[in-house]
Amino acid sequence: MADVIYKRCYFDWGGRCAYCGFILQRQKTLGKTKGSIDHFIPLSKGGRNARCNRVLACYPCNLAKNDTDPRETNQWPHVEQRLAEIAASPIISHRQLKRLLPELTRQLGG
Ligand SMILES: [Zn+2]
Repeated sequence: MADVIYKRCYFDWGGRCAYCGFILQRQKTLGKTKGSIDHFIPLSKGGRNARCNRVLACYPCNLAKNDTDPRETNQWPHVEQRLAEIAASPIISHRQLKRLLPELTRQLGG
């Protein structure tokens, strides 16, 4: 997974697991959990590998969700709503991202 994709996903989701709200680490740090990217609609079910389908998730939530298709189970409406907001929001520049990510980390107490 390209690091910049993770960073953008991390920023879009405010550094928290989309499913349980757990605060995730921006970078791999000893003893701290780095998150993972989950595809809300699984790639195996035709979901796109695109920003509008990428969700920041902790590993336990990612594992638990696995190949669940939210279109079939109607789970996580709040995640679906947030993804729509993200899809409608502009992509910030790399420079902005570099400036904003440390701010976000500070806000999260990292
Ligand atoms: Zn989680």
